[in-house]
Amino acid sequence: MDMIRERNIVGPLAGSAAMVIAVGGATQLDQQAAAWLVVVAAVAAIAAVAVPLRPWWRSPVTAAERRAALEHLPAALVERGRRMSAALVWSTWALLAVRLATVPLLIVAGTPVADWVSDPGQPWYLRAGLATLVLAGTVAVLEATPIWWDTRSRGTASTKVAGPAGLNTAIGVLASTVFWTVKILGLTWAMHLWPSWWWLALIAAYAAARLAARALLEPGTVQSAAAGGKPVTSDRLRQRVAAAAAGAGLRSPKILVVEKPGPLNAVVGGVGRQKITVFGPGLAETTDDETARPATGVEDEAVAIATHEVAHIRYGDGWLRMLTGTAQAGFTLAVLVLAGTTPALVHAAGAESLADPHAVGLILAVLTVPRLIAVPVQMWLNRAQERRADQYALHTTGDPQAVAASWQRALREVGGDPNPGPTYLVWPKPASHPVLAERLATALAFDPPTARPATAMAGAPTTAPVPAADADIASPA
Ligand SMILES: [Zn+2]
Repeated sequence: MDMIRERNIVGPLAGSAAMVIAVGGATQLDQQAAAWLVVVAAVAAIAAVAVPLRPWWRSPVTAAERRAALEHLPAALVERGRRMSAALVWSTWALLAVRLATVPLLIVAGTPVADWVSDPGQPWYLRAGLATLVLAGTVAVLEATPIWWDTRSRGTASTKVAGPAGLNTAIGVLASTVFWTVKILGLTWAMHLWPSWWWLALIAAYAAARLAARALLEPGTVQSAAAGGKPVTSDRLRQRVAAAAAGAGLRSPKILVVEKPGPLNAVVGGVGRQKITVFGPGLAETTDDETARPATGVEDEAVAIATHEVAHIRYGDGWLRMLTGTAQAGFTLAVLVLAGTTPALVHAAGAESLADPHAVGLILAVLTVPRLIAVPVQMWLNRAQERRADQYALHTTGDPQAVAASWQRALREVGGDPNPGPTYLVWPKPASHPVLAERLATALAFDPPTARPATAMAGAPTTAPVPAADADIASPA
């Protein structure tokens, strides 16, 4: 219980300070020393986020308990998910093989491609842009077949994939090509503007952009979760969510309850007085406070889900993700700088420096590699935050039945494999949340007597002391 209620702001503050000091102090050093300093600061920032999350690094349940939890799910859906994972095996490894094989090829292909698509006399942005279009487009085409199979296989068992796999893959090839071209042009443009410290400026710009997105875009994203639905005007569910937020010591978030078809879920976002939107089918019938009907199952599930979102606000998980994202960007760019200051690599690419249009293949190749490490680490921390939010919801609602029911519902409404093998942790799309079987097993194993009574919490003052320190930032589900 104490483990659930305590908050750690020292770690994230120390991690943020490490990044700020490294990015500021790096300008006093030569490029290589500066890049190493930023690598060390990025690792320190990740550690500062990771250490307080220690109890949630690993699944709290055993593999046997996860398998046992599958008994509480419809056998046909479990089997459908298992078949999906089996089908994903070859595309997973094919995609990794293509990705790794293209790294050396891109390095040596940069110069011939740039000279093939443009003349040395043309402006750098035209040369770099055209070369990136060809190189990134080729990689996207090479990856298209395994990605098509991946999308198709996921579509058989999950509502997260909509539309024909062929069309989705074609759009993906185009989007990836354009995305990389814009990204490489942005990078080389910054290199031309600030020849020495372009990468430090980009790390700072990344952090500023994440902050701006939180403040300006997130409230709109949370609002858009209500699109296509009908706001529920009666009050009880809203009051119960507000009570959960008050129990967490939060400034009262704005709470919107929306009746709409599709999965039952909630999102949270914004800065300051955040907004929580709870949406799903059956909510209109759950909030009739005038007749004081007993809570329906879906209302208790909605409260459990919303309490998980409240936990994200309370623990400042949105800030933690901004910090780990900035550390990832810093790590990736520092690795790029280290590559750019390694003469053997730059010569192998036939370039003079990273700003040379001949180097776009080298940049594309080098950006691939740190992400293979950084993204799985970031997602591992994400899953730890999700476990903490799940534990918080279990402890403060004291209602493991409602939590378990919400996971059973999620499999029916969203699908997927409730208990995939270990590759889901690392590649190609490292999972941002714990697997459903783990979350269900955790709820089933939860012992309610250690928690506060469930139904008494609505509207009742919390008995647990709540620190006055703020945690007024949120993150999307
Ligand atoms: Zn969450």
